[in-house]
Parts: sequence; structure tokens; C-alpha cells
Amino acid sequence: MDRKAFHLGDVVEMKKGHPCGTNAWKVIRMGMDIRMKCTGCGHSVLLPRSRFEKRLRKILIHADPPDE
Ligand SMILES: [Zn+2]
Repeated sequence: MDRKAFHLGDVVEMKKGHPCGTNAWKVIRMGMDIRMKCTGCGHSVLLPRSRFEKRLRKILIHADPPDE
């Protein structure tokens, strides 16, 4: 099981939060680069996928949760 698997629409926690005090980012674009949006202030940032994966701490909310 890949704990770093993430999908479009997931809300993730990064190693470093946004200066606004929020550390919950929604993945809004996937590709070579990942665009994520701060759920606190709405600011969005674009990161190369490798950098995103390095900074990713955990998935907070899965966009498509498994049936349990
Ligand atoms: Zn913010």
C-alpha cells in the first residue's frame, strides 16, 4: 500500500504549512506539476511533482474514500 498515493481533490498536509497558519492543501491539478490550493486563504501554488512528494506529510481527506 502506497501511503503517498494522492489524487485530484484530496486535501493534504505538507511538511511546511502556509504562512497564513493553515496546513491543509487541496490538490486541484495533477500532471508534471501539482497545483494545490490552501484551504485557509485560497492561495494556490504550483510544485513539480517530485518536490510535492518530498514535502507531502500525509493525506488528510481522500477525495474518493474506499468503502468501509
Ligand atoms: Zn493560506
